[in-house]
Amino acid sequence: LKPPAPCADLKAKYDTRGSKFSEIKQQLRSLKLSTVCEEARCPNIGECWSGGKQGMSTATIMLMGDTCTRGCMFCSVKTSRAPPPLDAAEPRNTAHAIGQWGLGYIVLTSVDRDGEPIPLNKEILVECLVPDFRGNRECIEAIANSGLDVFAHNIETVERLTPFVRDRRAGYRQTLKVLETAKEFNPELITKTSIMLGLGETDEQVRQTMKDLRSVGVDCLTLGQYMQPTKRHLKVFEYVTPAKFAHWEGVGNELGFLYTASGPLVRSSYRAGEFFISSLLK
Ligand code: SF4
Ligand code: SF4
Repeated sequence: LKPPAPCADLKAKYDTRGSKFSEIKQQLRSLKLSTVCEEARCPNIGECWSGGKQGMSTATIMLMGDTCTRGCMFCSVKTSRAPPPLDAAEPRNTAHAIGQWGLGYIVLTSVDRDGEPIPLNKEILVECLVPDFRGNRECIEAIANSGLDVFAHNIETVERLTPFVRDRRAGYRQTLKVLETAKEFNPELITKTSIMLGLGETDEQVRQTMKDLRSVGVDCLTLGQYMQPTKRHLKVFEYVTPAKFAHWEGVGNELGFLYTASGPLVRSSYRAGEFFISSLLK
């Protein structure tokens, strides 16, 4: 099935020649750090790194290297059953980079491997986008009580499509449980998740997913268009219209999410700092 052509909104509107952008890129190379922004070929990279309209730069740093042991059908991060050993300098380099960039908001995520905690600068709002830890409560507790501001774990898609979209070790119910457990260990924590649209989900399934997320106390939701990163990955089933994204934002507000960011280019960390601050001011 050939999907319709994407709408104009899928074209990134920011260029990547600004000085902030170059500074971040240069430091990443010299410190041997990877970001989801680059690895996942995110179309928002120019806007996020340069600070967008509000001048609040956001970047998503990957911990434990750039190679994942899982293989989700939508994700362009490198995968291997035997990834290279962890870089002992990575925690120090990550802290160094965060301190230098003057970012307002940092998202830390990791490929699927075991790792070590890193020291955090208290001046910066920190969001951790975590894997499911296979539901391990001790791991969830350690992160939930580590001093972060936002605990993020992505549900990615509706329940029916989960086995076709995510790695077979990931699960829809397990993700709900992870998000619920984080709140149980730290009720003050803001929890957040993300859904990709355009994979063949029905409206009823999207609405049900949003209700399921609210039922486990998830605070923040992002919805964005799935885009096929390479020919080896899942094909786009449908390009969802901006009007439909706006509709889902309305549904999110009705259901009581602190904020719902919904649009073709929205990714889980898209303008995360701005949305976080404005949700606190509500
Ligand atoms: Fe990076 Fe997230 Fe922004 Fe994409 S949306 S550029 S992954 S911070
Ligand atoms: Fe990508 Fe899946 Fe690995 Fe996450 S767990 S980095 S989505 S392959």
